[in-house]
Amino acid sequence: MFDYLIVGAGFAGSVLAERLASDAHKRVLICDLRNHIGGNAFDYFNDDGILVHRYGPHIFHTNSKEVFDYLARFTAWRPYQHRVRACVDGQLLPMPINLDTINQLFGLSLSAFEVESFLASLAEPRNQIRTSEDVVVSKVGRELYKKFFQGYTRKQWGLDPSELDASVTARVPTRTNRDDRYFTDTYQAMPLHGYTRMFERMLNHPNIKVMLNTDYREILPYIPYRKMIYTGPIDAFFEYQFGKLPYRSLEFVHETHDRPVYQCAPVINYPNDEAYTRITEFKYLTGQEHAKTSIVYEYPQAEGDPYYPVPRPENTRLYERYKALAEATPGVHFVGRLATYKYYNMDQVVAQALKTYRTIREREAIQVEQPALLEGALGERTPSVNGKLRARVR
Ligand code: FAD
Ligand code: UDP
Repeated sequence: MFDYLIVGAGFAGSVLAERLASDAHKRVLICDLRNHIGGNAFDYFNDDGILVHRYGPHIFHTNSKEVFDYLARFTAWRPYQHRVRACVDGQLLPMPINLDTINQLFGLSLSAFEVESFLASLAEPRNQIRTSEDVVVSKVGRELYKKFFQGYTRKQWGLDPSELDASVTARVPTRTNRDDRYFTDTYQAMPLHGYTRMFERMLNHPNIKVMLNTDYREILPYIPYRKMIYTGPIDAFFEYQFGKLPYRSLEFVHETHDRPVYQCAPVINYPNDEAYTRITEFKYLTGQEHAKTSIVYEYPQAEGDPYYPVPRPENTRLYERYKALAEATPGVHFVGRLATYKYYNMDQVVAQALKTYRTIREREAIQVEQPALLEGALGERTPSVNGKLRARVR
């Protein structure tokens, strides 16, 4: 009998498995559909011996000391500051837009002070910042919006920025200084031996059993457990009863080239003409030295594995309906990017999982005080379909 069945061995599932096993001494079974742990952060050495990220570039950054210190128990870090160039009008320009982007694009030599008034002269003031178009146009005006954001966003999401919540393009700031880092978080680093090694260490505990190539629905009738942590898509859990939640997908095309360096930056964004959004060269991220180099192209897709929740009002409304069902489903915690339909970075998922663990601990403390009452209420059972889970007592 397992105390917890955890669905999904990405950040959400693995953090909870580790906490429940190591800190609360629970017996945990963690399963994943895929043939590996790590979820979308999975990395591996390809046939040429180069460390690559199967599901696109994963760069760790956070302002949370708690999250950074927690993960540091399972990995050493390689300090890494991420840099991106955007291919616009035949030039490779710093992205986020900064002083150098403006000067190089327009052939100017403005100072930081002057560029502020220059951008202010281009900006289209908005009373309310509602959409991803509002965010950019109100800061840098329509021309820069079209060159750097509109095409990229239409490709990435299959939607115009005016159809997406402000939070999407607000991820990318605009700067009037020369700082060309993609992120400015306090902690920016890559796991020294890769993400997968870090996940292996998290899950390496006698109380944790790992089952790969396994859809949790296959094993529900055979594996007794008390509670579930679910980190897959929330609409799939409820058998799409209110309809499908849109998740955007990507096709990743990996290549290895017989030369040490492929491009001049870790990531180059292609906002306009190409079908792909960006090319990543992994050796910049990992610091690996190798005579060859590996890259990945990202081609956005409507169908395929669910990678991105799509932040827009009607999707949030639909998610809220599923969330209400989730809250009425005793004994199951919904955690992570797919299960809470949030465009979360890795650190946010770790923070959410640690918070869920604290909640569980508080509840377990209550159970310890009233063992007789809860023992009877929880009992042992092997639910066969999700609908039946709702009958359980939390
Ligand atoms: P996932 O990693 O998606 O894990 C969920 C797991 O559940 C999956 O492995 C899936 O196979 C499994 N699962 C689903 N359904 C079932 C089922 N029925 N039975 C069994 N298993 C199931 N974040 C950053 O901080 N920095 C970055 O640079 C960054 N870059 C990214 C680039 C791309 C292209 C993408 C797609 C994401 C990126 N992210 C980045 C976000 C990051 O990947 C996520 O925040 C994080 O991996 C989410 O972890 P998770 O555990 O919630 O979900
Ligand atoms: N974006 C853009 N042009 C760029 C980079 C980003 O239009 O050169 C927009 C686009 O909508 C993208 C969003 O900003 O989806 C967030 O970018 P980020 O780099 O954070 O995307 P992620 O790494 O999560 O795919």
